[in-house]
Amino acid sequence: MGFLTGEDRDFVRDLKEVGVLEIYSENDLKNITRNGGAASFCGDGDIDVRNYHERTITGRPHSQSLFGGPLIYSPLYRGYKESFAIDSLENMREGMGAKETQRVFLYPHYPCGMATKYNHSIREVVLMAAGVHIRFISEFGFLPGKVHSFFHVKRFNRGEKEEQNTYIFNVKKYLPLIGNRIISLNQIKCLRRAA
Ligand SMILES: [Zn+2]
Repeated sequence: MGFLTGEDRDFVRDLKEVGVLEIYSENDLKNITRNGGAASFCGDGDIDVRNYHERTITGRPHSQSLFGGPLIYSPLYRGYKESFAIDSLENMREGMGAKETQRVFLYPHYPCGMATKYNHSIREVVLMAAGVHIRFISEFGFLPGKVHSFFHVKRFNRGEKEEQNTYIFNVKKYLPLIGNRIISLNQIKCLRRAA
């Protein structure tokens, strides 16, 4: 999969500056979950997010690895299929029941081959990720404190070395910025039309 463009990098930097993407240390969230939770990752094997999850969150990384990751739960995702989303959710719920665990960890990432296939920009991916976070709480009925969103980014750093970064995605801080400089309302309208 590719890497971030200069514009994408500026967007990530912007999100970090306003606290939407938060850096956290490997010990901040360790042991936050009992019995491992359930993580949603993209099936993309070229990203290290599963290892990251295992390293920083839980030594028992129960996961649902589907191409597109959490985006498959967003009706704005151009590859969205309602029946697939519902079945996948049911599968996650059953797995969580079997493992007696209650927390959900959502790991959208960019660049994502599936997002690229459907022509989604990084701004759209972040917007959809926020929507999925909210959907898990408001529609799927998970407790707000039990849904954790992250954002995984693969990029070249200044020394032209590949870096993979995972941030906490602070959805509460992101929402007031919609319609502002982070994502214009016009972009959301375009997204809806194309979806
Ligand atoms: Zn992907």
